[in-house]
Amino acid sequence: MKDLVFEEIEKNAPKEEPARQLYFIEALRSFVEMKKGEGYEAKAMVSVIGCQMSAKDGEKLQGILEEAGYQSTESEEEADVILFTTCTVRENANQKLYGRIGQLKHLYKKNKDMVIGITGCMMQEKDEVETIQKKYPYVHLIFGTHNIYKLAELLLEALISKERKVETWEDTNLIVENLPSKRKYPFRASVNISFGCNNFCTYCIVPYVRGREKSRDSREIVKECEALVRDGVKEIMLLGQNVNSYGLDREEELSFPELLRAVAKIPGLRRIRFMTPNPKDFSEELLSVIQEYENICNHIHLPLQSGSTNILKRMNRHYTKESYLSLLRKIKERLPELGLTTDIIVGFPGETEEDFQDTLDVVREAQFDSAFTFQYSKRSGTPAAKWDAVDEKIVSERFQRLLDTVRESSKEREGKYLGKVMEVLVEERNTENNMLTGRLENNILVHFEGGERLLGEIVPVKLEKSMGFYYYGSVV
Ligand code: SAH
Ligand code: SF4
Repeated sequence: MKDLVFEEIEKNAPKEEPARQLYFIEALRSFVEMKKGEGYEAKAMVSVIGCQMSAKDGEKLQGILEEAGYQSTESEEEADVILFTTCTVRENANQKLYGRIGQLKHLYKKNKDMVIGITGCMMQEKDEVETIQKKYPYVHLIFGTHNIYKLAELLLEALISKERKVETWEDTNLIVENLPSKRKYPFRASVNISFGCNNFCTYCIVPYVRGREKSRDSREIVKECEALVRDGVKEIMLLGQNVNSYGLDREEELSFPELLRAVAKIPGLRRIRFMTPNPKDFSEELLSVIQEYENICNHIHLPLQSGSTNILKRMNRHYTKESYLSLLRKIKERLPELGLTTDIIVGFPGETEEDFQDTLDVVREAQFDSAFTFQYSKRSGTPAAKWDAVDEKIVSERFQRLLDTVRESSKEREGKYLGKVMEVLVEERNTENNMLTGRLENNILVHFEGGERLLGEIVPVKLEKSMGFYYYGSVV
């Protein structure tokens, strides 16, 4: 094995994808098998930091690793390969990664064969890659969002050469289909419908680290969903940074409502969710499709970001306070049982008390079921990074007021479903109260007593006690 040279293996590799990666997965598998003969345990851990896109990337990495003969582990001590999918949307996500890899130093000292790899959004930032190269010599593999599918090829090279492998791409037009992926839950899956983003909201790093918007072929998406359903999946989440612009970058492609309809028609698929629709191009047709199909969940995540027309303009969001509210009224009229969630940023540069009051106004009227609230985080390279920041104290004080207002305003919806019997997709056993936990189609959590066999099933549950953001109930 000592004489193994990566270039020799590479010589015979097909040039085309996915054939090339399938070849490298096999090559990695043979290599791992050989190493197992020398006592290598071939255990791998994938650690996800960030959003659902990052989690989906994690599933792809895990799929490739398992196909190549690695066994998954949750323990860093046991792992021979540890991979991180990273997030850089706010500064605290970056700090989280540095904390994690800092802790791995002592493990690496004990196991010099260990490969620590980092991929994802943060690795699309040159400064971060440089920092890691300088300060963390024991990180042996660095790759980005555009070449994540190349894991087997990159890992094999790192393993054979025993040298650090760094490969990141600025952008790509390539979408590689049909590589393995390993779901976290057997009954639930997420499916990418597009990658990247063209919107360039002025606070947001995503377009810089994920590249321009690229939609997948709708036939591939439907095929993947059909295969998932055959494999026992009951709920599918369609993922894109702005699902409403799905297909616009491809000729003769379906629109998002058309794609949603095609997915909803798949026999046996019980629940469909999607994320994220941008309010700026939310169509009537989309509402009609949601209304039309039972299996499209009554839940919309509609990011507000700010309620001030002035700030929205400076954020480059292309909607106003009034247009957001009138869209909401229309949605609620058509879908009265809808679950509504949102994202809100406080302390965007230049945000005045008056602007902030506009955000509170919208929150009061919208009565979101829940809101993901963030303090503005400066991302270098984005336009807003050059603008004057709001005083930190003011930001944290507004943040608290926002939380209070969200809680107050959602109170009116609390207990709305009390006494009703509703379907719950059972997700897991809650470690705190030892009850089963699942979600209603409107995304509200329900806890109830039940046996293991209910995991992954959709069961009718009577909602008996409202706890604000969640319910206690019992199986009917
Ligand atoms: N494509 C999605 C958002 C993806 S980022 C959309 O347009 O809604 C997820 C959320 O992170 C955003 O909705 C926003 O609320 C928040 N976010 C993005 N950049 C941020 C920043 N610089 N500071 C604070 N929050 C940010
Ligand atoms: Fe970021 Fe805006 Fe694109 Fe969402 S739509 S990913 S917030 S640039």
